[in-house]
Amino acid sequence: MQAVTLTNSKTLFSEAQHHIPGGVNSPVRAFQAVGGTPVFMKSAKGAYLFDEDSNKYIDLIGSWGPMILGHGNEEVTQAIIEAVKGSSSFGAPTRREVTIAELICEMVPSIEKVRMVNSGTEATMSAVRVARGYTGRDKFVKTIGCYHGHGDSFLIAAGSGAATMGMPNSPGVTKGTAKDTLLAPHNDLEAMQKLVDANPNEIAAIIIEPVAGNMGCVLPKEGYLEGLRKLCDKNGIVLIFDEVMTGFRLAKGGAQEIYGVTPDMTTLGKIIGGGMPVGAYGGKKEIMDCVSPLGKVYQAGTLSGNPVAMAAGITLLSILNNNSQIYQDLEQKGIKIAEGMRKAIKEQGLNYTVNQIGSMTNIFFTDKKVENFEDALTCDTALFGKYFHAMLNRGIYIAPAQFESWFLSNALSDADVIQIIEANEDALREIHA
Ligand code: PMP
Repeated sequence: MQAVTLTNSKTLFSEAQHHIPGGVNSPVRAFQAVGGTPVFMKSAKGAYLFDEDSNKYIDLIGSWGPMILGHGNEEVTQAIIEAVKGSSSFGAPTRREVTIAELICEMVPSIEKVRMVNSGTEATMSAVRVARGYTGRDKFVKTIGCYHGHGDSFLIAAGSGAATMGMPNSPGVTKGTAKDTLLAPHNDLEAMQKLVDANPNEIAAIIIEPVAGNMGCVLPKEGYLEGLRKLCDKNGIVLIFDEVMTGFRLAKGGAQEIYGVTPDMTTLGKIIGGGMPVGAYGGKKEIMDCVSPLGKVYQAGTLSGNPVAMAAGITLLSILNNNSQIYQDLEQKGIKIAEGMRKAIKEQGLNYTVNQIGSMTNIFFTDKKVENFEDALTCDTALFGKYFHAMLNRGIYIAPAQFESWFLSNALSDADVIQIIEANEDALREIHA
C-alpha cells in the first residue's frame, strides 16, 4: 500500500478556491468531513476513476448514483454523440421525450404521467408543489435525515451533505417557509401517525426516501412503508416516494417494486439521465393533470427534456429494462461486499454496522443498528475520516462522508470486489493499530 500523491489535485484545489465557494460545486466534494485534498478527477472507464495525478481508483460513488453500468458505457456514449449532432437543445417538443416518458411509465407502473426536469432537486420541489395544488393544503412531512435536494422547504433536518456539514437547517430559508415543513423521525410509524392526527386536513404530502441513502444506507422497517400508504389513504395525503437514488437502481421499478408499496407520486433523478443532468416527477394521472398547461400548477424548464440528456437516459434505461440479470448481478456484488466487510469487522473483534440492499451499502462506525438518523448520528465520524483515507490510499474511492451510501456498478469485476473486501480489512486494521 502506498499513500496516493495528489500534487496536481492540491494545485487545482488551491486555484479553485479563488473563484468557486469552497473550491467545489457541491459541498461534500470538498472533503471537509474527512480532511485532506479533494481528488480532482480527469477521466473514468468502467469501474475505474483516474485523477489529475494519474492515480487509479475503484469507484464506489458512481457519480452519486447514475453510473450503474460504470463509466463510459459505449451505447450511452454513442447515443449522446448522435443526439448532439442533431442539436444540443431545441426548447420545443421532440420524439425522444415521448420515448422516455413511455419507458418510465412502463418501468415504474405507479407513474401514469411524467414531467422531465433537470435535477433531483427540481423533481422534489415540483412534486410537493403539485401535491399542494392537488390537495389545496400547505404543509408536508419529511422525515429527519432524509435529503430531498436543496429546495428551501427541504433544508430542514436534511441528511447528506447538509448533515455532514453540520447545517441540516440552512440559513436563508425563511421562517415562513420552514413552518410548513413538518418533521417526523424516520422509520417511526407511530410518530408519523401522531403528527398526522395533530394536523388534520392540513398535510398535502408525505415525502420519503423509501430506502434512505442520505444518512448512509437505511432500510425501511418491516411494515413502515405499508403503514405510510394506509395513513395517507385514510387522510387524503399524497404519498411521494423520492426515488432519486433508488429509482432504476434497486430494481427496474425502484424501491416501490421491491417493497410492493405504490406511492401516488415518485421523484426520479441520477440514473434517469445516464450521467447527464436530468430529473423527473410523475405519478397518478389525476394528480399530474394538475400540472400546467393542463392544470393550474406552474412548472417549466428551458432545458427540460434536453435532447442529449434524453438520449443518454433512454439508452441507459432501455439497457436496464431489457436485462433483468443486471439487477441480480448487482445484488450479488452488494451481498459479497457487505458480507466481506462484516466478516472483517467480526474477525478483528470490532462491532460496526453494515447495511446493504442491492447495490447500495456502507459501513457505519457505530455498534448500534442503524434504522434512522438518530442511530446514524452515534457514528464515530472522526474514525470514518481515517477509514476514508485508508481506503483511498488502497485505491478505493468511497463517499467522503459517513452519512452517504456507496453505489456499486455492474462494471465491478470479481477481482475488484475482492480488492474492496481486502482493502476494507486492511483499512480497519490500520485505523485500529
Ligand atoms: N432526492 C434524493 C433522495 C437525493 O439523493 C438527491 C441527491 N443526492 C436529491 C433528491 C437531489 O438531487 P440533485 O442533487 O440532482 O438535485
